[in-house]
Amino acid sequence: MTARVEAADLHLRSLQPSARSVRLAVARLAKSYGGRSAITDVSFEVCAGEFLAILGPSGAGKTTLFRCIAGLVAPDDGSVRLADVDFLRMRRRERRRIAVVFQQFNLVSRISALSNVLAGRLGHVAPWRGFTKRFRRADRLLALECLDRVGLAHKASQRADSLSGGEQQRVAIARALAQQPDVIIADEPVASLDPRISAGILELLTGICHRDGVALVCSLHQMHLAQKYADRIVGLAQGRVVADIPAATFDTAVARRLYGSDELQDMIE
Ligand code: ADP
Repeated sequence: MTARVEAADLHLRSLQPSARSVRLAVARLAKSYGGRSAITDVSFEVCAGEFLAILGPSGAGKTTLFRCIAGLVAPDDGSVRLADVDFLRMRRRERRRIAVVFQQFNLVSRISALSNVLAGRLGHVAPWRGFTKRFRRADRLLALECLDRVGLAHKASQRADSLSGGEQQRVAIARALAQQPDVIIADEPVASLDPRISAGILELLTGICHRDGVALVCSLHQMHLAQKYADRIVGLAQGRVVADIPAATFDTAVARRLYGSDELQDMIE
């Protein structure tokens, strides 16, 4: 197969996920630290092409939940299933089907934007290619396409630490795209960005979710952003799910259940 055909094939697969029906199912997830419960009995499902926002006050357990879903910490109880397969028992290479976007971008600062995106291909290539960083031309083309998708192809060779915060988050999203995932989990991806840049990042993630059929689970601090961009909202308070509703039905009563009256008042003022 020529590099050109391989690139075309990869391009198609990146635009048409193989299984639109793939979804993430989290069931009865629980995790404690030193005997103190961080999340308890957390269950929800996310469909292909659905944007699920996780809302909750600081300390509600959002990061713990994301770390458990991504396999970064082992839950004490419960399961994470991806298209009916136990994700936590999947081999490392298979786990690339869930991509993670972090609040602090987590790029390698001293290397280029393109090299950071290529890291998203590591789950797809032979291990020796990862060690030697000798990626196939098709992988390089795909990484470039992903950078183009986030509007940064022209900055491919620029060092990651010379990019603005918003640009770094776009590179992180391109890296997630290069993984060709079924699910993206984004842990407060706009918490460090100003409102205008945040809107651009959320529009980008929404487009990836709705157009490519990727299931998106995204924690957000701001209620109005969840209402504007998400299809569904799961509310977490003290480690438990207290709401699982269509975003359009989120109202003050649900917000009060999540944040409590005093904190809600502070957020509004
Ligand atoms: P959120 O992301 O919603 O702010 P976290 O998941 O970070 O919530 O935290 C939930 C609870 O778990 C908090 O009480 C926090 O102090 C505790 N916690 C989180 N990570 C750790 C850890 N590594 N060690 C001990 N306690 C932790």
